[in-house]
Amino acid sequence: MKRKTKALVLGLTSALFLSACGTASNSSVGSNDQSQLTTGNIDSGAADTVTAEQSSESAAETAATDPGETNAVDKLSVSVSFDAMAEFVKVVGQDKVDVSTIIPTGTEPHDFEPKAQDLVKLSQARVFVYNGLGMEAWASAAAEAAQNSQLVTVVAADGVETISNTDKEEIQEHGQYDPHVWLGLSSAEQEIKNIRDGLIKADPANQSYYEANSQAYLDQLEQLLDTYQQKFAAVTLKSFVTGHAAFAYLCRDMGLEQNSVEDTFAEGEPTAAQLGELVKYCQEHQVTTIFAEEMASPAVSQTLADEVDAKVETIYTMESAEDGLTYLQRMESNLSKIYASLSQ
Ligand SMILES: [Zn+2]
Repeated sequence: MKRKTKALVLGLTSALFLSACGTASNSSVGSNDQSQLTTGNIDSGAADTVTAEQSSESAAETAATDPGETNAVDKLSVSVSFDAMAEFVKVVGQDKVDVSTIIPTGTEPHDFEPKAQDLVKLSQARVFVYNGLGMEAWASAAAEAAQNSQLVTVVAADGVETISNTDKEEIQEHGQYDPHVWLGLSSAEQEIKNIRDGLIKADPANQSYYEANSQAYLDQLEQLLDTYQQKFAAVTLKSFVTGHAAFAYLCRDMGLEQNSVEDTFAEGEPTAAQLGELVKYCQEHQVTTIFAEEMASPAVSQTLADEVDAKVETIYTMESAEDGLTYLQRMESNLSKIYASLSQ
């Protein structure tokens, strides 16, 4: 039954995809403009009204080019800025989306500036998802330059209750807010909702599919949030030290405090005086683990750990693909390691 519905929906998707190309305009989706979304949506029940002829016709087309698999051409083409956005689009869109990530693996996203070839896919994409809040300063200009009238742009952090940056230089360079929204579970939930709405806007025929996938994932995030809020509430130590200050939203969720060897935007290693202050901080807060990130001075984390006789553990920022792990696996790893460091 599920399989049959899928085939019907697929046929309808193709039809809507073709007709939508000519009419959709370059527009953005976020929690602040929900009203726009209703115009593109259709009743998900409409999938049942597709005739047998239509569905078998489209199934035959698909089979001719790529037997047994959904043709890549039929998938919703989604460009994303960096890894966490790709992860979120994949869990909501699953086999209905074809995701390409603009910032290459291993590239520090805070410093990234795209070249023309990085943006080729954006000119053909149906959806562009980026985090926002100054994380991708190049994104809105890139969306403009793509001259792609069918592009639905999703600023994933829209509607999140933001945390302000305190460092003057950072505010000047990157804006007022801490962009690391995806690293807090409750703010990640908002990003999932915005992405869901964006996919539905671009591909209304699969509305119920995107809704079901996002809801299942939101339930998982919520469960993890609950579990760790209870765990962290029961420990007295609340402070941890990491590579760059990426975990403010996680800290807000869990009632914790972060300190870091680099600032929010991972720029520059600490001076001797700053390192001295970090050593003092670790001693005062009984920090026994220093977290290290691949792209934020892991050597400095090691130096600090040696100074205070702490061990070094990996923490994931999901700004790039890491260890072949999913978002949830990395989030669980981060939470369990931070918890272990505070509960010993
Ligand atoms: Zn970062």
